[in-house]
Amino acid sequence: MNDSILRSIAEKQENPVYVYDAEKIQQQYNRLQNAFKGVEKLQVNYACKALSNISILAFMKEMGAGLDTVSIQEVKLGIEAGFAPSDIIYTPNGVSLKEIEKAADMGVQINIDSLSILEQFGTKHPSVPVCIRINPHVMAGGNSNISVGHIDSKFGISIHQIPHVLRIVENTNMHINGVHMHTGSDILDIEVFLYASEILFQTALKFKNLEFLDFGSGFKVPYKEGDVETNIEELGDKLTERFHQFCKTYGSEIKLAFEPGKFLVSQAGYFLVKVNAIKQTTSNVFAQVDSGFNHLIRPMLYGSHHEIINISNPEGKERFYNVVGYICETDTFGSNRKIAEISEGDILAFKNAGAYCFSMTSNYNSRFRPAEILWYNDNAHIIRKRETLKDLIHNQVLLNFKEKVEA
Ligand SMILES: *Cc1c(COP(=O)(O)O)cnc(C)c1O
Repeated sequence: MNDSILRSIAEKQENPVYVYDAEKIQQQYNRLQNAFKGVEKLQVNYACKALSNISILAFMKEMGAGLDTVSIQEVKLGIEAGFAPSDIIYTPNGVSLKEIEKAADMGVQINIDSLSILEQFGTKHPSVPVCIRINPHVMAGGNSNISVGHIDSKFGISIHQIPHVLRIVENTNMHINGVHMHTGSDILDIEVFLYASEILFQTALKFKNLEFLDFGSGFKVPYKEGDVETNIEELGDKLTERFHQFCKTYGSEIKLAFEPGKFLVSQAGYFLVKVNAIKQTTSNVFAQVDSGFNHLIRPMLYGSHHEIINISNPEGKERFYNVVGYICETDTFGSNRKIAEISEGDILAFKNAGAYCFSMTSNYNSRFRPAEILWYNDNAHIIRKRETLKDLIHNQVLLNFKEKVEA
């Protein structure tokens, strides 16, 4: 994916627009497969909340991935995109027993992360195989906003409560076929990951009929120059060896599963916006673009850094800018960014716009959600049309106050 392809897409589309590079997704997938090529049964389940367009899901299926879902709607999207229910794992948090039963009914692998739900589900459906999500209480993340391993986290069943899990399993005679952990985004340190994995291995030995161990995700990808990224190859070497050991001790060759989101799609994505105006104040130069946190909220929500480049003037002299949106709120995408000189009408590209970008969009300020384009086989394919006014009012009901409206 280069500037001139992005420019040509921007010229044809009304801005703003999301563009995804299928080749980059494939590269990341291959890289993960390669790093764990020593594992007999490797299962990569794409965490589709990162980017849930059905064409992206279908592409994941083409590559051979399964799907990790967190809602019944994501399960249905997966099936719509062509996944078999058996290729889908459902890892919700805080949802109703009823929704979990619905997913189980569809034939999806259930992953339960609450003792209360486990007991109720096991009592009613002892024959349905269930994975349990444990919380190893390891904070692998560097950013406390997105670490989910700490002791009072709402995610997972605490490893200190495993005796309770075992009692439920014994009393209900339910079948636990997998043990799962997801220690949160952004693993900086492989040793921390391996430490958490040990806890998963120890826990797994307590269950006799496992078919898989799921190590979740949290692989870090670089967002800016100099960023540390998870060394997948080193992790692959170390974890593969340890996994073989485990399988020997356990007495069967079970599956090793991962559920990456960011790792597969973050770097494949570009978000293209147009500069509406340049505005100088006493201390700042603002580049005001035709977007806002309605289209890309990560910088405002948790301070994420997305590199911003000027693809209309890539060779231009670099100047400092604050890149801001058009929403009637503070919506700063980046402050004091060194960007090739910007003129009004230029197209800026946000990098790393594949994960948690489109999937977090909204209609705030009654703006339309952008189009999505997949760059695949040297062609730009529209995989989501830009919204129109019809989409905005589709589910709204206009009451007629001229006639007496019935209560
Ligand atoms: C969000 C999520 C993932 C994906 O995390 P990334 O940091 O995007 O790789 C994996 N597993 C579960 C259970 C999740 O909720």
